Parts: sequence; C-alpha cells; structure tokens
Amino acid sequence: MSEFFERYYVARGVQLLKRESVVRLEGKGRVRTAVLSSGRTIPCDLVVAGVGATPVSELFTNGGLAVENGIVVNEYLETNQRGIFAAGDVANYFDIIFHKRRRVEHWDNAVSQGQHWAALVRGDRKPFSHVPYFFSDVFDLSYELWGDSEGATQTFARGDLNSSSFSVWWLKQSRLVSAFAMNRPDEERQAAADWVKARQLVSPEGLADNNRAVKEAALSAGSPLA
Ligand SMILES: Cc1cc2nc3c(=O)[nH]c(=O)nc-3n(C[C@H](O)[C@H](O)[C@H](O)COP(=O)(O)OP(=O)(O)OC[C@H]3O[C@@H](n4cnc5c(N)ncnc54)[C@H](O)[C@@H]3O)c2cc1C
Repeated sequence: MSEFFERYYVARGVQLLKRESVVRLEGKGRVRTAVLSSGRTIPCDLVVAGVGATPVSELFTNGGLAVENGIVVNEYLETNQRGIFAAGDVANYFDIIFHKRRRVEHWDNAVSQGQHWAALVRGDRKPFSHVPYFFSDVFDLSYELWGDSEGATQTFARGDLNSSSFSVWWLKQSRLVSAFAMNRPDEERQAAADWVKARQLVSPEGLADNNRAVKEAALSAGSPLA
C-alpha cells in the first residue's frame, strides 16, 4: 500500500524526503526556508504542518471530569459525572467491539457519536457499538478503512496493488479486524464493515482468491464480542 501511494504521489510531482525532519523554519516576517536535519535547505513561502493533534480538555479538568487522552467516557458516551456526555474527537470511549479504549479523530466517528447521544437522551439506552471507520481522498482517489489492525497476524490483498483498485484485509486469529478498500465493488465494502463488526471467521485462501466473490471467504458466523 505504501509503495502504491508513494508512486502515485511521485508521479504527480510530489517529492518525498525520507529519514528527514524539519529542524527550523527561517524567514523575516514570513517563512522563506525550511532547514532539514541533514542540513539541507528548502526554499518555500508556505508550510503545511501535518504533525498530529492533541485534544484540548484543560477546560474540563477543574470540573471533576475524568480526563486522560481526551474526556474519558464509557460505552454509553457518558463521563464519570452522570448526565454529562462527550462525543467526537475529544471523547476517549470504550469500544465494545474491540474491547479497548480509543479516541478517534475522524468525521464518521463524530457524526455517529453525536447521533448515538441523541438516541440515548431520547431514552434508547444502548452502548455505542460502531466499527471505527474513515474515508479520505488523495488526488483523484477515494479510499476507506474499517476497524483496527493492531495485533493482526495475517494480511491479504484483493485486486491489483499496482493499480488504483485494491483492498487489503487484516486478520487476527482468522477473524477479520480491519479492511481497506479503494475503488472496490460494494460487496467488498459491505463485507468489510459487517465482518469487522462480527469478528467474522474468514478463509485466507478465499479472501486472496480474486476469482471468487469475497462473500465466499466467510467461514461461519463470527462471534460479535470474541
Ligand atoms: C486537515 C484535516 C483533514 C481531515 N480529513 C479527514 C478525512 O479525510 N476524513 C475524516 O474522516 N476525518 C478527517 N478529519 C477529521 C475530522 O475533521 C474530525 O474528526 C471532525 O471534524 C471532528 O468533529 P468534532 O465535532 O468532534 O470536533 P470539531 O470539528 O473539532 O469541533 C469542535 C468544535 O468545538 C469548538 N470549540 C473548541 N473549544 C471551544 C470552547 N472553549 N468553547 C466553544 N467552542 C469550542 C471548536 O471551535 C470546534 O468548532 C480531518 C481533520 C483535519 C483538521
């Protein structure tokens, strides 16, 4: 996947400098030069810094809300103070599909948690059970990713990793934990979302066989909370 994207960027005029970091920006009144760790300098008049983000939660610490990597909420998106909820980028919630805490910085999560909270306060008290998901766009490509590949033991690809149409599937103990799809048929996108949620047992051979529909890779009903 990395090689595919690297080729795609380079073919469109982007130069990737690996094993480099920016140590200093120079200029009077406005940036003119980026100085790299190797000593190399790059003339520039605009810098976009993609350096990650941290949640701004100081506002809430004095009020007694539990704060640790965001505002800590349970599977009902409720903080340690009854009746106070958090959703979106700032919420460190308990993911009942993967049995772990996570904080997700993606649009789909913010929308889904907002909708879930609205249902909760209307009296529909269900835990938030949602496959982590994001989409993104690179040049003319759109891609999607479901789940969490941490701890995955096997990876399989469908389609052609040299083209802009492929999917990648991560398995942990033969169960699907994550999937990536770009320009793939809807049946693969649907299987990705459903199977991660169900911790579906899949056949690696079936998954890797491009001549068979992906649904044929399902082995048996998965266990939702395995
Ligand atoms: C450059 C960029 C690219 C991205 N691309 C993608 C993408 O391709 N796909 C994807 O899924 N996600 C993407 N995201 C992430 C997505 O935008 C966020 O996950 C989403 O907007 C989070 O929504 P939110 O409502 O939780 O928080 P926000 O959208 O950050 O909303 C929080 C709001 O609270 C306000 N606020 C903060 N402090 C206070 C205060 N003290 N008082 C009052 N208001 C306050 C802020 O002004 C803001 O309006 C991207 C984000 C960035 C920055």
